[in-house]
Order: sequence, then C-alpha cells, then structure tokens
Amino acid sequence: MSDDNKKTLGTRTLGVKRTVEGKVQQQFSHGRKNTVVVERKKRRVLTKPGETPAPAPAEEAKTAPAPAAPAPAKKPAPAAKKKSEADETLTRKEKQEKLLREAEEARLAQLEDTRRREEEAKKQQSEEEAKRAEENRKAEEAAEKEAAAAAETADAAPIEPETGGPTLDPDKPAPRAFTPVAKPKRPEKKKEEKGKPKRASEKRKERSKLTVNRALRDGDGSPRSRSLAALKRAREKDKEKRAHADDQPKVKKARDVTVPEAITVGELAKRMEEKAADLVKSLFKMGMAVTVNQTIDQDTAELLVTEFGHNIQRVSESDVELGMEGEEDKPEDLKPRSAVVTVMGHVDHGKTSVLDALRGSEVVSGEAGGITQHIGAYQVKTKDGQEITFLDTPGHAAFTEMRARGANVTDIVILVVAADDGIMPQTIEAINHTKAAEVPMIVAINKMDVEGADPQKVRERLLEHEVIVEAMSGDVQDVEISALKGDGLDELTEKILLQAELLELKANPDREAEGTVVEAKLDKGRGPVATVLVNRGTLKRGDIFVVGAESGKVRAMVNDKGKQVKEAGPSVPVEVLGLSGVPNAGDPLTVVEDESRAREVAAYRQGVIDKARTTQTPTSVENMFSAMGEAQAIEFPLVIKADVQGSVEAIIGSLEQISTDDIKVRVLHSGVGGITESDVTLAAASNAPIIGFNVRPNAKARDIAKRDSVELRYYDIIYNLLDEIKAEMAGELGPERIENVVGRAEIKEVFPAGKKDKAAGLLVTEGFIRKGLSTRLMRDDVIVSATTIASLRRFKDDVDEVRSGLECGVVLEDTNDVKPGDTLEVFEVEEKERTL
Ligand code: GDP
Repeated sequence: MSDDNKKTLGTRTLGVKRTVEGKVQQQFSHGRKNTVVVERKKRRVLTKPGETPAPAPAEEAKTAPAPAAPAPAKKPAPAAKKKSEADETLTRKEKQEKLLREAEEARLAQLEDTRRREEEAKKQQSEEEAKRAEENRKAEEAAEKEAAAAAETADAAPIEPETGGPTLDPDKPAPRAFTPVAKPKRPEKKKEEKGKPKRASEKRKERSKLTVNRALRDGDGSPRSRSLAALKRAREKDKEKRAHADDQPKVKKARDVTVPEAITVGELAKRMEEKAADLVKSLFKMGMAVTVNQTIDQDTAELLVTEFGHNIQRVSESDVELGMEGEEDKPEDLKPRSAVVTVMGHVDHGKTSVLDALRGSEVVSGEAGGITQHIGAYQVKTKDGQEITFLDTPGHAAFTEMRARGANVTDIVILVVAADDGIMPQTIEAINHTKAAEVPMIVAINKMDVEGADPQKVRERLLEHEVIVEAMSGDVQDVEISALKGDGLDELTEKILLQAELLELKANPDREAEGTVVEAKLDKGRGPVATVLVNRGTLKRGDIFVVGAESGKVRAMVNDKGKQVKEAGPSVPVEVLGLSGVPNAGDPLTVVEDESRAREVAAYRQGVIDKARTTQTPTSVENMFSAMGEAQAIEFPLVIKADVQGSVEAIIGSLEQISTDDIKVRVLHSGVGGITESDVTLAAASNAPIIGFNVRPNAKARDIAKRDSVELRYYDIIYNLLDEIKAEMAGELGPERIENVVGRAEIKEVFPAGKKDKAAGLLVTEGFIRKGLSTRLMRDDVIVSATTIASLRRFKDDVDEVRSGLECGVVLEDTNDVKPGDTLEVFEVEEKERTL
C-alpha cells in the first residue's frame, strides 16, 4: 500500500481495481508489477465539510461490491474489468491514459455529487442522519484499510475523507444528494459495471462531455487556459466596461469644485471639467444671460456646480489673510506697557490745551533737545519715570473710524468738560463712543480758573448719561483742572496711571510687530509716511510689513521728538517711512516674513477696496432683482481731497451721517494730497464738486477745472464743510463765502527771526501780498498752515504791501514751519448772499 501511495498513477489504478475483489496485478509505466489483495473498494466522495455521507461505502461494500465505486469507480470498474480481460491488448500507455481519464471523470462526478448534495443535504439530512451514522461507522472500518489507496489526488484529497463513500452507494439515500447531472451517470455506471455492453458507449459519451481541459475548468470554476479569441473578447469587454466607467463619473461621480467668491463662467467650466457653453446654457435657463468671460458670484456658481452634480468647495480670497492675525501671546511673555490715552470732549472745552499742557509739562520736566513733532501721537514721561502715550488726534470721528476698523487702540479716554459750559452735544457723543468702545473714562473738568466754573453741576449732569464719578460714589475718576494754568495736571496724570495699573496693560515685546496707523500722509521729501502705534512686538528698521492695503519695508522711523529710532516697542508711536502708499487711519500694520507675502496681502486688500468702490458687483440673480427694485435715491456726488487721511475719514463719515434715504452723498473718490488733474476729470465726468480740505489743486488741475467748470471748494474747518453740504443738500443755501486770492509767493529761503521765530525770504509771483491778510502756506499743494501775514519787510523796512516780481521777508503768525520751496497763497474773504 505504501508503495502505491507513492505513485499517483498506481493508486488510481488501484482505485480502478477496487471493484474487483481478490488479487489484482498492478502494472507501472516503468515496468514494475505489483500484486495487491483487494477486498473491497471504498470510494472517496466529495462532500461538504460537516456532512457525514460516508456510510455508503460500507454498505456498498457489503451489499454491492461491484458498484461500490459508482462515480469514480464507475469507469475505473469497467476499465479494470477490461483490463483483466484484455490486459495484454492494451499498451501501457493506453492504459495509463484511460486510467487518468477515468480518475478525472470520477473526480468530476464527485464534485458534482458534492454540489448536489449541498442543495439537497438540508432536506435529506434528517432522514438520512440515522442511516448515515451507521453507515459511517462501517465505512470507517473499511476506510481505515483503504484510506491510503483511496485518497491521493491533490485536488480531491481534502474532500475525500469527509465524504467517504456516499457517492459510491447508489442504493442508499445518500446518492439523492447527488446533482442531477451526476445522478444519471451513476446508475449508468452501475449498469455498466454490471452489464458491460453499455460501458464503451457510455465512456465515449462521458469523454465527449468531460475533457480534462473542461474538467479542469469546471473543477475550480475558473478557466485555466483560454483561447486567444476568448482572451481578446474578454479584453474588449473589459475595455468597454472601463470606457463606460469613464462616462459615468460625468454624471455620477461628484467632483469637488473649488469656487472663490467670484469666478468667470469660463474658469468655472474649466474647474468643473464641463463645457463652458453648457454652463452658459444652464445659466440662460435660470434667466441669466451671461457670457463665458463674465463673472458670477459664489451662490450662482453653486447652483451650476450642483446642477452638474458636483460638490462646491467655497473658498474665499480672504484666505490670503490667514495667519495675518498673529498667535496669542503666552502670559509669561507679556510685559507691562504704557497706557494709550485719547482725549475727547466738546469743541472748545480744551482738548488741545490739555494735551499741550501735558506735553508741555513733560518738555519742561526734562527730555529736552528734541523739537516736538506732530505725528499724531506722543509719549509723556511722568515724574516717576512712567510713560503715557497720548493720541493727539482729538475728535470723535477719528476715534470711531479707528474703532470701526477694529483698531481699539485706546486704553483710556479722558473726557474734557469745561466747567463753565457743562455737558454739550459732543460731550454726550464722546460718552457714547467711549461706552461703545468699552474703554474706561476719566472726567477732566477743565477751565476751573474761569469764573462761574461749576464742577458739581458737571458731575450731576453726567449722572444723566450714566457716568457716575467718584465724588458721586461711582467708579469713574474725575479731576478738576485748568489746562491754561496747569492746575490739576499732576493729579490727572496720577489718575491715568492708576487707571492703567488697574487695567494691567501688557504686551509681548519679543515678537514680530503689530501696530495701528494713527495718522498717515504723503510727504514730499519722504514719500508716504504713517504714524504707527505699536500694539505688540517690536517694530524694527528693515522689517517688511503690510499696512492696510499697502506694503513696505521700514526704511526709517522717527519718534515724536523728531529723532530717528531703530526700533519701537509696544505702546510706542513712531513715524514709519518706506510705505508703498498712504494707508488709512486705523489700518493695521503687520510685519510679515517677506516682500512677496506683503505684496500679496496688500494686493488682495486693495482688490477688496476697489471692488467696494466700483459699483460693478458680480452678476447674480439676486443683484439683478435688487438693482431693479431699488428706488433711485438722489445722489450728491463729491470728490474729496484732504491733507491727512484722518480728515478724509472724518469728512466721509460725517457726510454719510447727513445722508438720508432720499438724498445721499456719494463719494466718487477720496484721497490724501493736492487736487490733481485726474481728480478734476473724474469730478467733471459726474458733474461733481471737488472738496479740498486743507489742499489745493496744482496749476494744471486748476486750468482743467476752469475749462470744464468743475466746482472747487476749499475748507479748513470740517463743520463749515458739513454745514454747507448739508444746507446745499437741503436746498437751504447760506451766504456764499468767497475767497479772493490776491497774490501768490514762493519761499526762497528761511532764516531765524528773533528768539524763536523764523522769517521767510520770498518772491511774489502773482498779484500782491499785504500785511494782515489771510494766507495759506502750501507744500506740494497741501496746506501746511492757514495763518496771517504778521509782518512784511523789504530791505529791513516794514512795509504793508509787496507787489508781484519783488522779493521780501515775511513772518507768519503762529507758525515756524516754513521751508524753501513752499508757496504762499494770500487771499481776502468776502461773504455774500448766495444767488442761485
Ligand atoms: P478744543 O477745541 O477742545 O481743542 O479746545 P482748545 O484746547 O482749543 O481750547 C479752546 C479754548 O479754550 C482756547 O481758547 C483755550 O485757550 C481755552 N482754554 C482751554 N483750557 C482752558 C482753561 O483751563 N482755562 C481757560 N480759561 N481757558 C482754557
């Protein structure tokens, strides 16, 4: 047996002989012979694991030895018989082939049986169980003997032991489990085995049905070899499938389409990988006639994207701003910083005087040397060495404008109330602004030197506006002062420091600087200049930054004493040079890593501003309807030019306030600097007047204005401007204030006059100049000061008037800020009833 086991073919041969009881001679290809005693053949059968169909063989062995191996032995049996009959006639090779075939066929039959059994097993199981159990036992006995010979083919082997012989038992119920295909074979085989005649034809049939190739294919369910044509077909099928799969995503597979706030139809089509024409069609169906190059907004884009079955991924261009707001500082990095104080109050209650007094006291108390500069903010060192930063751009507009830009730089507000005047409209306004900003307030009751000063009344009146001062058992500090006489200023300083202490003001100085623009202007020699109050970090020379919609590199920094500094820490105001343009008051300044980043952010912000200014908004259904439905308000177009950005902001803010639903001020353009030709052209196109606040047009602009009849209006007091515009808008026009320019002069040189004054040597270029007349000193068409001519000299003689073409010396009232190259505009003012 062990010998047989070694040889696959041999064992198969044995299998064939199983049906024959007694001695059987085996023949092997290499000529060896072996005689084996065969008692009974147990046929291996494939069954499902768990099934116990084994009994059959045992029964079989006893009852029907011959058909014992129906399926596998079915053929082998006849073959064996044949063999015994005509052993000699068949060549070994033939025999082997036959055997091999038979073995395969048997194996197949077993597989079929198994399949069938699987189907029927459930039904039969209960009936058969008892019988099988018995049969099993018997079969096992037989199996033990035959096991070695029975199972050897690699494929069938694992299944055989379980299935045992049920397949071999045609009379038992087990065969019922066979597949229908297998079933007929088995009886046939039995017959074959019993009656030889059918054997040959049956065999042929079987052969024609089951070739090895087929058997192999069927056996494991997958073809092992295919014809070329089949392969080709399969490949084509595959291709087709894939092509089909490519088609599908267009409809089914959702693409993630990144859509910014506004996008052209063409670009959107590209991102959706759709035809632009389809998008246009789709939009048209929605009632929007747009071209490929037209811009649509994000919402409209979403409609399209979803309609085409994709997913929209909204992105915002503002993502470029990500990271611009620096990280939070760790508490341990924070160091005390000085307080930033804003002075507010009603006009003429003494704001400027208080600021001057505080600063003056500082100048006196030390820190001599530097000439005080107006940069929009300054620092005062108190007697005990502490510093306080004052914003000296008094006015609510500036405060509110800055706050509107998110620049809440003020830590403390000093509310100046004149003791002789009490609570006035702008006092209330200041209170409201302060409350809105949630900034602590210190009430400075000023003009205590004036007779009739009633500080108590001020305190009481403040109650009405929910400002409860300490004297009234509230928590708002108050102090009585006289800015004029310098009384109470120390106390005021102390209170500021106390309040600052309570606020525990801290900032991290050791990081990239962030600051806020307090004031900005265009300086002839230095270009755009901005006074920046550092909020945190330290601003250093060479730093690259973004400021509002501008960018730049710190070329130089000048402090409030006019000194160049290399760096500025938290709460320090400095004038920064090296900007690409003039930013707005309240704009944030952020130091960034490199110039490209700075430019990128600045460009994005400029884009946002441009978009807001231009009326052309992205086409959208919503916009179309709203544009149709909106009632046309009467617009009052204006072009505004002013000396500093703060003024521009203040004017625009105030003008917006006086606008009503019926009549609106529409600022076509605003900016810092003299009135240029382009300003005039723009104004002419809209038939708008140009407001020059402390600025004048250049010669060319003046000519064009004259030619195009563009109205130029000059103001230096914001209230006058507002009153006039308001009156005009309301149709109530007051008396016309006419300025007659009588002469112009150019400053050639500047020299000291007296102790501290400066005199200017000038050449009268137009008309005449006269002592006592109003004049404006201009630098690059920007009014540096509005003053009067205090004295006029020619060759050391005081004169009253100097005519065109002559040189003279002049001392201006209240100002020493005179430089060679400046010009003087001398004018007379006359007021007359306005006629329409
Ligand atoms: P602002 O409009 O609030 O800035 O007020 P100013 O500081 O320009 O002051 C308006 C006027 O009040 C000026 O003529 C000052 O001289 C005067 N003034 C300011 N403070 C005092 C003060 O304490 N006492 C007196 N008598 N006059 C003052």
